[in-house]
Amino acid sequence: MKNLSSDDYVQGVLAGDRVLLARTITLVESNARRHFELAQQVLTQLLPHTGGSIRVGITGVPGAGKSTFIETLGLKLTQLGHRIAVLAVDPTSSISRGSILGDKTRMEMLTREKNAFVRPSPTGGMLGGVARKTRESMLVCEAAGYDVILVETVGTGQSEITVRSMVDFFLLLLVPGAGDELQGIKKGVVEIADAILINKADGENKVRAKAARTEYNRALHYLTPATEGWRPRAYTGSALDGTGIDKIWSVIETFQEKMTEAGTLQARREAQMQAWLHTVIVEQLKQNFYDHSAVQAALPGLETAVRQGTLPPTAAALQLLQIYKTTPEK
Ligand code: GDP
Repeated sequence: MKNLSSDDYVQGVLAGDRVLLARTITLVESNARRHFELAQQVLTQLLPHTGGSIRVGITGVPGAGKSTFIETLGLKLTQLGHRIAVLAVDPTSSISRGSILGDKTRMEMLTREKNAFVRPSPTGGMLGGVARKTRESMLVCEAAGYDVILVETVGTGQSEITVRSMVDFFLLLLVPGAGDELQGIKKGVVEIADAILINKADGENKVRAKAARTEYNRALHYLTPATEGWRPRAYTGSALDGTGIDKIWSVIETFQEKMTEAGTLQARREAQMQAWLHTVIVEQLKQNFYDHSAVQAALPGLETAVRQGTLPPTAAALQLLQIYKTTPEK
């Protein structure tokens, strides 16, 4: 494949060219230093064209029905004339090769839709790396004209908080479980949700799903809402037969309308971008620090001193930081 210039990427994305969209995301996901700079050039040029979507995060345990839900919702939305991009943050994708979310057979019908773009989770080591790539891919998709971005994740707690920090609206998918109806509350994910969908409310499950909805609504009543001015509620639905899915979408649309009017959405996005800046600074500083040859040379000795109790950890850290600041990199 020939090397593209930043203008080639930008023009391709703005023209809605799917091949170039995919290549731009590959560029953004690359870990190579030389790609990093080019990717940032491309993103800087695309930035004025971003922001025009509703960004929705979706979480739930494996088997809760996330991909079924995304496919059902996605197909409905493409029929309504929307353009949907589906991204994922799967912190396990670098660890287990068959990641929880990465299965290629998922969302088969949606994948074939011309107005849908489905991208598996980037790999990339730590959650921070995966999150950065997904954030940037989201901007690229917006510049390409996708007006609904769905970001899927799967429960480790931290990955949900990470996705919460990049979306407007956060949806928690639950299944009416055996007994422990308030599992999500214990995990702290309910607190960051703007709505809960009790999925699989079909067949024999209907009654249990309704009971779970009542319980969650009661619990939600006592929690501080994740978004100021928005009262999260629990709904029942079936991703499989499609009931309740229109309702969830209308909740998301109402949210977007009200929160845009109140200025909450804009404020949230600005705060998210600012927080992201600081995340990148901390990550880069950390990496530069540990990559620095003088730090690498001094670290083992200081680690030994700390382990043997001859030097307090803070004193050792300050020495290392002094070395980092004062020794020029070779
Ligand atoms: P994910 O791991 O959260 O993405 O879950 P999947 O979407 O792969 O769904 C897991 C299983 O639950 C599959 O066998 C689906 O067919 C089934 N499933 C998903 N949604 C529903 C639903 O609304 N009702 C029923 N009965 N089954 C569902």
